[in-house]
Amino acid sequence: MKITEIHVYAHNLPVKNGPHVMANAKVWSLDSTLVKLVTDTGLVGWGETCPVGPTYQPQHAKGARAALAEMAPGLIGASTLQPMLLRRLMDGLLNGHRYAKAAIDIAAYDLIGKAYGMRVSDLLGGAATENVPSYYAAGVGDPDETARIVAEKVAEGYPRLQVKIGGRPVEVDIAALRKVWEVVRGKGVRLAADGNRGLTTRDALRLSRECPDIPFVMEQPCNTLEEIAAIRRQIHHGIYIDENGEDLATVIRAAGTGLCDGFGMKVTRIGGLHAMAIFRDICEVRSMPHTCDDAWGGDIIAAACTHIGATVQPRLLEGVWVAEPYIEGTYDPNGVKVVGGHIKLPEGPGLGVVPEDGIFGKPEFSVG
Ligand SMILES: [Mg+2]
Repeated sequence: MKITEIHVYAHNLPVKNGPHVMANAKVWSLDSTLVKLVTDTGLVGWGETCPVGPTYQPQHAKGARAALAEMAPGLIGASTLQPMLLRRLMDGLLNGHRYAKAAIDIAAYDLIGKAYGMRVSDLLGGAATENVPSYYAAGVGDPDETARIVAEKVAEGYPRLQVKIGGRPVEVDIAALRKVWEVVRGKGVRLAADGNRGLTTRDALRLSRECPDIPFVMEQPCNTLEEIAAIRRQIHHGIYIDENGEDLATVIRAAGTGLCDGFGMKVTRIGGLHAMAIFRDICEVRSMPHTCDDAWGGDIIAAACTHIGATVQPRLLEGVWVAEPYIEGTYDPNGVKVVGGHIKLPEGPGLGVVPEDGIFGKPEFSVG
């Protein structure tokens, strides 16, 4: 099954009731990149990558499309049935840019599933559940409003809540976490406080010291691994690494040196489903919990995250975050949806999501 054509589309996804506020970024809409792989069998596969604006990480949407344009001519004629060889081929065409390569990798898995009549989750080792837990991320906001949102989401059935912090006086973050704890205490809901790199080590230490009774994990409190290492032994709470988990080498280093207790992980940042399955297995041998996150984006990336999330040992799965509750629009009427804080694993071969014909308009570029 060889690639005969590659089509790359840009597609805008507006944020519902925007903006979504994080410590270092506000986003009103997302510029997503869709990849359509056409093969000599007539089967078509879809991939997607969607950085959360240009400041969340070094990745950005136009960078994804430039990287895909650089690689695309060299991918014509490549087999999609061998994702590891495809990854090595891409590494030979372009250094780095895993988030762009992820779109090709996801489309390849979609095609493998369609070719063999298997779901992507079963290709990745087997689905441990058909109803995958999600988590809700409440943006940086007024503490009372954050507590109100959290109460609403707990009532909806989310098993885990994440509260964004940072980018403001730490006292306000502490007040927000206290109000959230009043709402979720005793409800069996897990909590994460996500600093999105925005806290100083001083403020991270203070936040932990002043909330010893609240069992949240601190997700990516500071900007660098060095800052996190510096405060690691003085923090009362579990520490998860998200943005700094740029590649598998960093994950091995962080897990091997005890730098963190778990990860927030994005399928596109690590390089796609092939790399994500390796990441999952590293975490399992060290009993490290982690998320399987959408880096925003629509139904394609959401389906990819749900399929890999379904394969994670349930005790280690911190949830699959998808952008669906936060964005307008869907690619497929049977697209990925969060209902009762959980996501039903898509049915059908491959990703189980098929974009409506012509929904993305004209490709930004095509090769083949
Ligand atoms: Mg995070």
